[in-house]
Amino acid sequence: MNHTKSEQLYKEACEHIVGGVNSPSRSYKAVGGGAPVVMARGKGAYFWDVDGNRYIDYLAAYGPIVTGHGHPHIAKAISHAAETGVLYGTPTEHEVKFAKMLKDAIPTLDKVRFNNSGTEAVMTTVRIARAYTGRTKIIKFAGCYHGHFDQVLVAAGSGPATLGSPDSAGVPESVATEVITVPFNNKEEFTLAMEHWGNQIAGILIEPIVGNFGIVEPNPGFLEHVHALAKEYGALTIHDEVITAFRFHYGAAHTMLGLTPDLVAMGKVIGGGLPIGAYGGRKEVMETVAPLGPAYQAGTMAGNPASMLAGIACLEVLAQPGVYDEMDRLGAILEKGILAAAEKYNVTITVNRLKGALTIYFTNEKVENYEQAENSNGEIFGRFFKLMLSKGVNLAPSKYEAWFLTTEHTEEDIMETIAAVDFAFSQL
Ligand code: PMP
Repeated sequence: MNHTKSEQLYKEACEHIVGGVNSPSRSYKAVGGGAPVVMARGKGAYFWDVDGNRYIDYLAAYGPIVTGHGHPHIAKAISHAAETGVLYGTPTEHEVKFAKMLKDAIPTLDKVRFNNSGTEAVMTTVRIARAYTGRTKIIKFAGCYHGHFDQVLVAAGSGPATLGSPDSAGVPESVATEVITVPFNNKEEFTLAMEHWGNQIAGILIEPIVGNFGIVEPNPGFLEHVHALAKEYGALTIHDEVITAFRFHYGAAHTMLGLTPDLVAMGKVIGGGLPIGAYGGRKEVMETVAPLGPAYQAGTMAGNPASMLAGIACLEVLAQPGVYDEMDRLGAILEKGILAAAEKYNVTITVNRLKGALTIYFTNEKVENYEQAENSNGEIFGRFFKLMLSKGVNLAPSKYEAWFLTTEHTEEDIMETIAAVDFAFSQL
């Protein structure tokens, strides 16, 4: 496969854009380096690079592209916005319609507010939890990603009773000391952290189904335990559903799991591919937000007509009967094919899958927390990633990311992908 133009463009990009990319995860640093493929256009489950190579896309832009590229219904909505004005700085009826659609699908949302990214949505929920409780500390779970604001770029301390340390230059120690990081799926460590800090915790921030060290589901009873202790100590539960909302069914993951968080942050899928974030939750908690309450959050682009109309159109596609069942069916075929190829070539893997999202870990352990995900062999993943690319299958360039199916993948695409996996495993 020829990548001459991608290589040239990347070289040029490196002269003008820091690191040659506008988000670090797009670089191929984690897969042994090289020029990232530069994409030119997409349609449905495929995209084509600037050299004319076609790929089956499982990156789905890290989650948002659940209906594939250039979906006609979403394209029409975006064109309408382009023609009638993409930004007014005033309320619009689209915001009201979209807020109602989200509330109908996610009963825990008494009130919502739109903004522009997952980071903004999560950041605001943390501020609200602090404003509502009058406390400052938060608990988060190791390996979960919640965006790039200071409080969530904090790594685990050495135990549940230890405060975090900055995970990025530029994050002050004083911020890190407000954050406690504990392992996902570990009731004991969470209990210890709450026994130690419980009365100072404003909010517990959690991905109810993890998407950021691969797809990891909560063990039975784990989230219920987190919710019960949060209630006991007067801390709010904040579900980061930036990946999970409308990914696994028409609604939020917490509804599937039978949980009622105080606050929910969303993004990705709900924008139909345009920039978006949203947060919402319990009425009394949400009324902490300006102009009703003292917690401030604002945005020039927030709730803009283009993102609203694209989001509405995306949910309209996802509301069609059978959409999620089909992604589940194809996901199951893909998983089976991957496992069969692994057995054929004696490649050690663990596959975590939920419906149309899956992760291959190059480890023989089951993966329930970040430490186990870290054991997935990154060097083998890097080679696997490049072999798949050479066969026209585009994955995320990191061993921690998920493969995402879209409504546009067909059984033929899945069979082509399994053949690529068979080839890649034969070469590892
Ligand atoms: N929360 C989660 C769970 C995410 O996966 C991400 C992005 N990968 C974010 C928050 C941040 O979203 P954004 O990149 O839109 O700021």
